[in-house]
Amino acid sequence: MNAPFQSELPPLRVLIAAPRGFCAGVDRAIEIVERAIDRYGAPVYVRHEIVHNRFVVDSLRAKGAIFVEELDQVPDGVPVIFSAHGVPKAIPAAATARGLEWLDATCPLVSKVHRQAERKIEAGRHVLFIGHKGHPEVIGTFGQVPEGSMTLVETVEDVATLDFPADAPLAYLTQTTLSVDDTAAIIAALSARFPDIAAPRGEDICYATSNRQAAVKAIAPACQLVLVIGAPNSSNSLRLAEVAERCGTPSQLIQRATDIDPAWLSGVDTLGLSAGASAPEALVREVVDWLAARRSVTEEQIVSAEEHITFKLPRQLA
Ligand code: SF4
Repeated sequence: MNAPFQSELPPLRVLIAAPRGFCAGVDRAIEIVERAIDRYGAPVYVRHEIVHNRFVVDSLRAKGAIFVEELDQVPDGVPVIFSAHGVPKAIPAAATARGLEWLDATCPLVSKVHRQAERKIEAGRHVLFIGHKGHPEVIGTFGQVPEGSMTLVETVEDVATLDFPADAPLAYLTQTTLSVDDTAAIIAALSARFPDIAAPRGEDICYATSNRQAAVKAIAPACQLVLVIGAPNSSNSLRLAEVAERCGTPSQLIQRATDIDPAWLSGVDTLGLSAGASAPEALVREVVDWLAARRSVTEEQIVSAEEHITFKLPRQLA
């Protein structure tokens, strides 16, 4: 049987969440790499993916960036940039010891958590850090403080297994890209078990993560499917797909339009679309174009917050 013509398929309403896509920390990290290439000439080395998105990494590679996982893969005499997720203190120290010029693209909101961890520990507290084991931001934050001064908590269940008395001097901090709802549940469990636990000054989950999750919550109940554009190793993108599912709406994490299985759209007349903080807007347009080539599409942007945050560049590039 021939595939139906577009005119035979029902129209598709596409609700596009806003805010979505690039945050101020990702904009800054990309600009640091681009300006460093202009300033120092190619190649410029970047330790770890500057942000967790293949298309961003590929486009910077085409401009002269070389991505490596470890500092010892960086040759002498070339500049190196540390990714937006942050690095343990030992990494810039090792770069300095080798005489390398280095630039720090750590998001200032991640650096803020680093400084809080140091302060809580200097004040004599043990820090319970809510985050995902193995994520570079978690590795970077643990690398700011002496070994043994911080314990990772990943789930509500982990709270019951913590081996501290109820009146132990504790504090909690969190990774910036977590689920707002899951984290609230973990904090509630920590506060119930350790009534004197110190909270961070202000929220650690960053504005971009919370705004993108709220924007998905605003569209998901009206949709039969939510597509989230983001990489499978992007923490904030994974959380957006989870948020949609928790609203009762199936969701799919895709890297770009070609990942869409046309069968997903069967019976869908309202589709939600969002993008993680490291996914470029061009990929959102690519997905809308892919849909419009198959269905008669009407787009609606559902704005749940405005964002006007920008961060300064490192002094070497300002
Ligand atoms: S998601 Fe938040 S913490 Fe991460 S780079 Fe963006 S603004 Fe910074």
